[in-house]
Amino acid sequence: MNKATVVSGIRPTGYLHLGNYFGAVQNFLRMQEDFNCYFFIADVHSLTTHPTPDNLQAGVKQVLAEYLACGIDPEKSTIFIQSDVPEITELYTILNMNAYLGELERTTSFKDKARKQPENVNAGLLTYPVLMASDILIHKAHFVPVGKDQEQNLEMARKFGKRFNRMYKSEVFPIPKPFTFDGADLIKVPGLDGSGKMGKSEGNAINLFDTEKDIRKKVMRAVTDSGPTEPNSEKPEAIQNLFTLMKIVSEPAVIEQFETAYNQCEIRYGDMKKQLAEDIIKVTLPIRERIVDILDDNEHLAKVARMGAEKARESALKTLKEVKELVGFRKLY
Ligand code: AMP
Repeated sequence: MNKATVVSGIRPTGYLHLGNYFGAVQNFLRMQEDFNCYFFIADVHSLTTHPTPDNLQAGVKQVLAEYLACGIDPEKSTIFIQSDVPEITELYTILNMNAYLGELERTTSFKDKARKQPENVNAGLLTYPVLMASDILIHKAHFVPVGKDQEQNLEMARKFGKRFNRMYKSEVFPIPKPFTFDGADLIKVPGLDGSGKMGKSEGNAINLFDTEKDIRKKVMRAVTDSGPTEPNSEKPEAIQNLFTLMKIVSEPAVIEQFETAYNQCEIRYGDMKKQLAEDIIKVTLPIRERIVDILDDNEHLAKVARMGAEKARESALKTLKEVKELVGFRKLY
């Protein structure tokens, strides 16, 4: 039986953080057992933020090492670097012709980014969802495991796929669906600065590569307040974020203990943060140790990248050939 295809990627603009790990990579690990998976490093996407060439190259190597350290297996999954597959940007050009200014301007991620980097509102930011659609459609993905933050971009990919199929009276693209295991909600890992989302560009991230000392420092700095004064009161966002993170990394009994303390107005945020930091470290430290080892092995990294590029190009070329035929790029020679 043919396995369903899965595509997902992460931008190499910094280290992988807990949002990437719990929102994306954990799903990758489970999916690689049963699906035909393509996991990529989205270096073309990251150009929207104008990284220096050296930072970009270091970021690509880092994320590749981090994927491997997390347990993504290059024998089971295709791990590749986006810019190694030029068919993706060729499909992006074609899809751009049917992506409309109004719909692109209305996406939340565009509005957010335009607000955050008003000095650099480039066309790549505007057409980000089209490139993402191309990443997904080029491998004819059926499923995309993404975090909640990417829900709207995935909806755009579905829209562009359907539009292309309709326009060219074809079924070249399967319409990709968001994926979580057991019907769980898409996960959103919050920031520790009281904001809704942990993210690379939000400057609030706890990275898999952070040292124990970094993690303790970051968690101890998390925004809190003076504590509840009424029993069973609703939690303000910053406090809820701490509990949400705890739910992700800590044992149920530990969470229960701090929930009860909160509800009885006896919570000591210092103790809660200490516990949270240790529980985060339990997850990240073994991964960090593996990242350090893998980063040392350039030969292995090169081999994985080459193997991934070959496998990804084979699949991408096949789709692009069909697409070109459909739009009418037919050879005169
Ligand atoms: P990015 O770091 O924006 O390139 O995102 C790469 C992947 O990580 C995407 O699938 C995102 O949905 C996921 N991701 C990033 N930040 C979070 C977060 N705070 N919570 C859940 N998933 C996230």
